[in-house]
Amino acid sequence: MTLEELVEKHSAFYCMECGVCTGGCPVARLVPNFSPRGIVEEVLLEGEDKVLEDSSVWLCSTCGTCSERCPQNVTITDFITELKNYLVRHDRVHPGVAAQAAPIFHDGRIYAIEDFDNKKRKKQGLPWVKPKTEEAAKIFQLTGLDKIVGNGSK
Ligand code: SF4
Ligand code: SF4
Repeated sequence: MTLEELVEKHSAFYCMECGVCTGGCPVARLVPNFSPRGIVEEVLLEGEDKVLEDSSVWLCSTCGTCSERCPQNVTITDFITELKNYLVRHDRVHPGVAAQAAPIFHDGRIYAIEDFDNKKRKKQGLPWVKPKTEEAAKIFQLTGLDKIVGNGSK
């Protein structure tokens, strides 16, 4: 999907820059430079190069507040999520996302369960946990996520 198609799909052209989205955004309260309004504006007014350089979209927690409050019905949360997908397709993966994906790829879990953990589990009568690498690898290959593991952003 192109940036123009993203704008069209999420009605971003209707943005009137009121700032209600940023005013209600919990991330913007903590990170002064983060602004959903600014992200919409950037895609509308700046070129692709600027959009690809901006890694701030990765801070969005997808809470949905901006979309719920937008008086123009811009579906900002989905817009930002699809913008993340757009960045991934252009090989701009935030290193934190790649780092989160790595243990899932290698162990099939969000964090590796080491022998140390398994020994503790055994003491408590819990079964030994083995990595589920085959299932995870298949999903990563089918979705193309295997290429981002260890890749990070450029
Ligand atoms: S709330 Fe909607 S109209 Fe207002 S700045 Fe955000 S996206 Fe634009
Ligand atoms: S969905 Fe993202 S941009 Fe929108 S309010 Fe929540 S954290 Fe902020």
